[in-house]
Amino acid sequence: MKNKKEAVVVLSGGQDSTTCLLWALKKYEKVYAVSFDYNQRHKKELECAAKICEKLGVEQKVLDMTLLNELAPNSLTRDEIKVDESAPETGTPNTFVEGRNMLFLTYAAVYAKGRGINDIITGVSQSDFSGYPDCRNVFIKSLNATLNLAMDYEFEIITPLMWIDKEETWELADSLGGLDIIKEMTLTCYNGIMGEGCGHCPACRLRKKGFDLYMSRRKQI
Ligand code: ZN
Repeated sequence: MKNKKEAVVVLSGGQDSTTCLLWALKKYEKVYAVSFDYNQRHKKELECAAKICEKLGVEQKVLDMTLLNELAPNSLTRDEIKVDESAPETGTPNTFVEGRNMLFLTYAAVYAKGRGINDIITGVSQSDFSGYPDCRNVFIKSLNATLNLAMDYEFEIITPLMWIDKEETWELADSLGGLDIIKEMTLTCYNGIMGEGCGHCPACRLRKKGFDLYMSRRKQI
């Protein structure tokens, strides 16, 4: 029988995964967070995740994935690689970390099975996928099938943000009573600046555009 009372949330400390954590806390009796240390340039991201877990009373496990940075250096892990400010004409942007979501979800699944948990929640979104192939629904479905076969277990990878954009993600956080937590405690900026961020990197622009759209809509309600 499936365990529908507990879930594991993959938590980076950014807007999307924190919104998923808030969502899971309403839906499940017990929620565990799994975060990954992959030598990201901004250690603050992990600090944010830890503080968010502390505030919300969530047990957090941080797993060492520093090997990932050694194998596939990119602009989020190396200071000397400048963040692409716009999408390249071909291929993935240099903020893409090769294999990240597959590895993270696989480790989260091993952790979940160890606790008899079936549901794994991740904040990936095809609407805002920014050219990252491992944020697409087809990949999540495929990995879900693979994990079930690999471990002979019924995992369910749940993606509350898959078909919504940033504006709706802000709306969801607000409806869960977490607008201020997202605004003040999360780190989305590729340049490592908390809250509103640097304002010009692709992640900041996406976050701000969604926020402004949601705020102007909320005023009209
Ligand atoms: Zn930024």
